[in-house]
Amino acid sequence: MLNIVLFGPPGSGKGTQSQLLINQYNLIHLSTGDILRGEIAKGTKLGQKAKSIMDRGDLVPDEVVIGMIRSILEKNPNATGFIFDGFPRTTTQAEFLDQMLDELNTSISTMLSLEVDEDELTKRLLERGKSSGRADDANEYIIRNRIKEYNNKTAPLKEFYTQQYKLQYIEGVGSINAINAKLCEAIDQL
Ligand code: ADP
Repeated sequence: MLNIVLFGPPGSGKGTQSQLLINQYNLIHLSTGDILRGEIAKGTKLGQKAKSIMDRGDLVPDEVVIGMIRSILEKNPNATGFIFDGFPRTTTQAEFLDQMLDELNTSISTMLSLEVDEDELTKRLLERGKSSGRADDANEYIIRNRIKEYNNKTAPLKEFYTQQYKLQYIEGVGSINAINAKLCEAIDQL
């Protein structure tokens, strides 16, 4: 199996690049942000609980996202691989993911980290906010909070995957196709 953690701060292009990679490598896209927004749209209990947290730009509790990931992995026993986009975001989530994949006799193949500086991220998210309708893209204060959450809770995962010799840095600025080519090169070298 090919199991990729596509990593990077909010606005680094994980969703865009995931869409290309799932077709190129026949992978299942697992975006916790998309799943949570789907729950909000459906008005489920989980969605109601997550909405105000997400609108503030904070992380939703680990047990909520872990439960979602568990159920999707269990529903796809014959998958040839997964792209994890926006997950894991904390050490607890990363430890769970390793354990869950271990139970399925597989593991993370690589972590590809899209590197984009903070001013560029803020610019991209504010631009996206004009059409995305996402409350968490709507103002700079919330965007800065998301980046702060990333720096405090999520960026330490680079160390987690470095210890497993799995982290690869990818320059996340340039054309969509140029970044895709760099990601493919890193995957093809595995
Ligand atoms: P972005 O990467 O642009 O911030 P996402 O769609 O990945 O967008 O995430 C949007 C929001 O969803 C996050 O700010 C957070 O509130 C919530 N979220 C998504 N994935 C997770 C996760 N793995 N753990 C905790 N919260 C999450």
